[in-house]
Amino acid sequence: MPTQTRRWHLAARPEGEPTRDDFDLRETTVEDPGPGEVLVKTLYLSVDPYMRGRMRDAESYAEPWDVGDPMRAGVVAEVVESNYDGLEAGDVVNGELYWSEYAVVPGHTLRQVDADLAPVSTALGVLGMPGATAYFGLTDVGEPTPGDTVVVSGAAGAVGSVVGQIARIGGCEVVGIAGSDEKTAWLTEDLGFDHAINYQTENVGKRLREAVDGVDVYFDNVGGPITDAVFRQLNVRARVVVCGQISQYNATEVPMGPRKLAGLITTRARVEGVLVRDYPDWTEAFERIGGWIAADELHYRESVVEGFENAPDAFLGLFEGENIGKQVVKVD
Ligand code: NDP
Repeated sequence: MPTQTRRWHLAARPEGEPTRDDFDLRETTVEDPGPGEVLVKTLYLSVDPYMRGRMRDAESYAEPWDVGDPMRAGVVAEVVESNYDGLEAGDVVNGELYWSEYAVVPGHTLRQVDADLAPVSTALGVLGMPGATAYFGLTDVGEPTPGDTVVVSGAAGAVGSVVGQIARIGGCEVVGIAGSDEKTAWLTEDLGFDHAINYQTENVGKRLREAVDGVDVYFDNVGGPITDAVFRQLNVRARVVVCGQISQYNATEVPMGPRKLAGLITTRARVEGVLVRDYPDWTEAFERIGGWIAADELHYRESVVEGFENAPDAFLGLFEGENIGKQVVKVD
């Protein structure tokens, strides 16, 4: 049994873009699991944009970490030793743990991952929190109906790539906005999006106007100028799902308020945030998405960074658009 583990801690609060210096790798003792507890070994850990909010000392939907705190993350892990009735050594589990190679956690906080269903890393992506966000955000808040035009920003990421495919399966015309030609090609050629716009090289507003006749549902993962451009083309009674605003996460000044609200008077569009933790049971999402994957109707991709020591780089890469699909770190 291991007696020590490596664990990443928050070394400093980033000013603007985070850097590697904001992370600190420490050795810490692994205690023996107590009653009801489980010792797990991390196989994959998730890096997610929301972690940037937790590094900041400001109100956010996720509670801030203190400097010196261990970094937390969704992980897929193998049970090494269990004092919890529902789990035994060798089981693969998913839970909210740490950026850590080993951890001791209460067994009831873990859910078992079915390794026969799909590669276990998907419990962090398409069959995990991002998949559930895409499913509930689109179906419950976006409420698309067949024939609607659905636009997704951050379209080649973990959440966005699933949103666009669920909309396509639901009979919508789908436009994805992403940051490279490799990403836009993936969206149209592999995922079946009708149109894809590279916001780095193309004029989003112009391309959108050429491609579709207004927007019925806008699923927003990024905010900023991309969202300004889409807002100008909302249809009457459009729905805007505010899921993420990654373009603002490293801002050092309070971003300018929404600039396109006057258009909502004309369109009577509805703008509503979504928070995946408002949905306590994700079974429906995983059953539907799992079914579409099995039927080859929904595809997914993962970007895998190898090595526990490279976890900060995987996180920093999210802000550079280095990932296609879900970004995970393969620890072992
Ligand atoms: P992604 O897999 O989409 O990774 C982040 C992507 O954001 C990058 O690949 C990059 O793609 C894009 N990006 C980075 N910087 C910018 C920028 N300045 N402007 C435009 N795009 C940018 O992450 P997730 O799918 O995990 O998350 C997507 C969004 O959803 C995030 O904003 C996240 O915070 C939010 N979220 C919200 C949840 C909720 O409950 N509300 C739950 C889960 C996620 P590109 O190359 O296209 O720029």
